[in-house]
Amino acid sequence: MKEELQLLEREALERIQATTSTRELADIRVHYLGKKGQVAQAMQSMKQIDPAERPAMGKVVNSVKSALSQAIEERQAQLQEQEKQQKLQQEQVDVTLPGILPGPQGALHPISRIMHEIIQIFATLGFTVEEGPEIETDFYNFEALNIPPNHPARDMQDTFYVSDEILLRTHTSPVQVRTMLNQKPPVRIIAPGKVYRCDSDLTHTPMFHQVEGLLIDQSTTFADLKGVLEYFCKAMFGEDKAVRFRPSFFPFTEPSAEVDIECVMCQGSGCRVCKETGWLEILGCGMVDPNVFGAVNYDPEIYQGFAFGMGVERITMLKYGINDLRLFFENDVRFLRQYQ
Ligand SMILES: [Zn+2]
Repeated sequence: MKEELQLLEREALERIQATTSTRELADIRVHYLGKKGQVAQAMQSMKQIDPAERPAMGKVVNSVKSALSQAIEERQAQLQEQEKQQKLQQEQVDVTLPGILPGPQGALHPISRIMHEIIQIFATLGFTVEEGPEIETDFYNFEALNIPPNHPARDMQDTFYVSDEILLRTHTSPVQVRTMLNQKPPVRIIAPGKVYRCDSDLTHTPMFHQVEGLLIDQSTTFADLKGVLEYFCKAMFGEDKAVRFRPSFFPFTEPSAEVDIECVMCQGSGCRVCKETGWLEILGCGMVDPNVFGAVNYDPEIYQGFAFGMGVERITMLKYGINDLRLFFENDVRFLRQYQ
């Protein structure tokens, strides 16, 4: 039995030395030292030998066991180091190789970019964003905004009607009405979004974007309106740009005004873009007409407010110096890529 064990030890040591991977070594460990391995089997067979010889045999088995354990451990360390070196060699990085270019990346459309910029500017003044449906009823789009049935804005030529009562909103003002019906003052919102008009030529598209704003409180004055909109114009187009207010008319504001900035192309000296006036119209605004307050049950004796609205396409064209509205909707990536 002793010889058998010595043979087993020799054979095992040879196999351990011959292993080429840690995985193979693990298999060998199980084969010899596992619960049902060769050494365990030798222990089992000890029951059959003369009890007097057992202690001596036990010693031999233990020495075989520890010799194998030690050999396996040493080989394990060697193999691990080898495998690590191999891996390092395989994964070596040549830092002089050219990098892998990232694939094409999406970007915001210039209209969306400017829309976000507008929202950001008003957000710093405490305005929150409100949204509403693009398919509206006549009440929200016209009636509640003091636009009587015979007003030209209701003309079939301007408005996309779905039915007599249902239409595509022609401005984002219905969002203002919905907000006022839903909450009591103070109100301080902007309503960005798509609007639709039956109009298509060099300077009009049937769908375009607006941002409208509404502020209502107990002591709101025209001075607040001027302060807010001047702040906006300068934040959008630059501190050095002159801003002026011109009297105008809108059915839902009284008094009403249009806001011009100094021409961004000629700095006010006069050019084709500003039609030689030196000024560019940027937005419309005014103090909310008390008739509008009546439609939403606000007491005009207590509350005053102002509203404004602007076309996002126009602001974007002026900001980036784009001269053709159609470029926005042709989706030519060569054009869009310039505004990434
Ligand atoms: Zn000009």
